[in-house]
Amino acid sequence: MTIAAISTAIGEAGIGIVRISGKNALSIGNAIFKGNKTEKLGNKYNRKLVYGHIVDKKNNQLIDEVLISFMKGPTTYTREDMVEIYCHGGIISVKKVLELVLNSGARLAEPGEFTKRAFLNGRLDLSQAEAIIDMIKAKTDKSFETSLDQLEGSLSRKIKEIRDILLEMIAHVEVSIDFPDEDIEEVTYDDLKLSGNKVKEEIEKLLSTADRGKILRDGLNTVILGKPNVGKSSLLNAILRENRAIVTDIPGTTRDVIEEYVNIDGIPLRIVDTAGIRDTDDIVEQIGVDRAKETVEKSDLVIGVFDASKELSSEDYKIIELIKNKKSIVILNKTDLPNKYNKDDLKKLIDNKDVIETSITSGIGIDVLEKNIKDMFYSGEVEIYSDAVITNMRHKNQLIKSLENITQALEDIGANVPIDCIEVDLKNCWENLGEISGDTIGEDILDRIFSEFCIGK
Ligand code: GDP
Ligand code: ZN
Repeated sequence: MTIAAISTAIGEAGIGIVRISGKNALSIGNAIFKGNKTEKLGNKYNRKLVYGHIVDKKNNQLIDEVLISFMKGPTTYTREDMVEIYCHGGIISVKKVLELVLNSGARLAEPGEFTKRAFLNGRLDLSQAEAIIDMIKAKTDKSFETSLDQLEGSLSRKIKEIRDILLEMIAHVEVSIDFPDEDIEEVTYDDLKLSGNKVKEEIEKLLSTADRGKILRDGLNTVILGKPNVGKSSLLNAILRENRAIVTDIPGTTRDVIEEYVNIDGIPLRIVDTAGIRDTDDIVEQIGVDRAKETVEKSDLVIGVFDASKELSSEDYKIIELIKNKKSIVILNKTDLPNKYNKDDLKKLIDNKDVIETSITSGIGIDVLEKNIKDMFYSGEVEIYSDAVITNMRHKNQLIKSLENITQALEDIGANVPIDCIEVDLKNCWENLGEISGDTIGEDILDRIFSEFCIGK
């Protein structure tokens, strides 16, 4: 079935693109296109832009003046024949062209269907297809880079490496099942333990990137907490002013909480303005301690703000309780005013966590805060982009399953469980990892690798 869709953002724009993919892409293109030199699209114009008009040939009605391009499969995005029509921008013209395309035999594409076809036709593996989705949604340059990295296959490569080790283990196991010679068996258990531990380590390493991956994609969930008048709004505004705010307009997001996206040196923060931290302010008073607790629990980072010019109040103590066990940064603000208490007093109350002194209205201390935020997330960690980063929930789940498999296998190896039982876990592990890249276990693949392994024996 040939599919079609508008591929550019709906709305005012310089041009709008209608994309067609499938067996009938060319014939549909030719059915509605009238070239200026009355030439038809086809191989002669493969991958070239042709100028002309889209015409409803039933009633000879002119729809739009366009550039059109035919791209012959399989060297296209979907690996099918494709036609792209570059219309004048503005929704009416693009919609009319799409309508005509649909009336000429194409079906409206489902969301992601072009990419799905690219996967089904072997152009991309699953993790790469998912990376494209992430790229479209990426909120900062760095998360865009991570998706791009994944698209280029860093995750697929890593997964393949791990699966290759597993395959070798499985092959070893099969040999010892085929030749149940005691010597071979003993060697095998030792080898299996070594390789199994390596597999486990690699899976754990990938899993440990999952949280960072989520942060890169979605932004760090940040809540600013403090009693009224301590300087929360001033702080939020200072952060927004100093850093590039990220404009988002994602359809489908609910608007009952206001979120500000901001980018601090590549770390995207999603600062949640629950019920308006900005206007009505006191989150604890406004939404109640329970809701505040919930909001804090759901966040990745809490910034607690305290006012040095006033005595600590019961509200401050509530906030201290809320942030005690959270990843948090504590700010002592208004240090320009005569102080009622100091950094050390506050420090004692919060288990000796660091306290940052600020005078937000004079711009003092905000750089320290930002540095602290960065340090918290890069501290002791390896370079964040040196390796594959998991940004996708499905990948994470598959990794968790495969970690269970290899852990079970290692346990059984340690307990000298019969080797064919161990093989089951190894195969499951291999299969679960394979689902990340969309490969499936096939007896034929196994056979092929195994036969290679046996060559020369
Ligand atoms: P919020 O209620 O916690 O959001 O506090 P605001 O940001 O609205 O600030 C309350 C008042 O404190 C405003 O008049 C600010 O100008 C003032 N303020 C905020 N930070 C400082 C500071 O560091 N020093 C002084 N002197 N005033 C500040
Ligand atoms: Zn405020």
